[in-house]
Amino acid sequence: MAMNVDALDDLRKMCANICPACDQPLPVGQRSRAVTCSDDCHRVWIDRLVARYGETREIASAETGVVYVVPTRVILEQGITGADLSRYPPKGVPSITCPVCHRTSYNPNDIANRYCGFCHQFHEDMREASR
Ligand SMILES: [Zn+2]
Ligand SMILES: [Zn+2]
Repeated sequence: MAMNVDALDDLRKMCANICPACDQPLPVGQRSRAVTCSDDCHRVWIDRLVARYGETREIASAETGVVYVVPTRVILEQGITGADLSRYPPKGVPSITCPVCHRTSYNPNDIANRYCGFCHQFHEDMREASR
């Protein structure tokens, strides 16, 4: 599978102290604390991982066994601990994502009416407006 080959490739580069975004050797001082050689490369690398693994990952809480849906970006950039998990929606909870601002709501009224509380608009009206 291409995905596994890519992941292995990244690992190999990390072990060799090569930036996975630009394929250049990491500056010596940076070798133990960063994966990429610069902030720009970091962004490129994160974007690539998100494209590869999807926008969200499912992580089970070690304490409760509840599975939470966490943005891949957050996991990669900040790391995630058990206490952080409850900030994210548990898996299987209905949600609706706005086609305009891409924010996700878990409010049952928003879902029923296909309404975005951030844009203060119904999704139906957004489509009318963009037509
Ligand atoms: Zn780089
Ligand atoms: Zn919106």
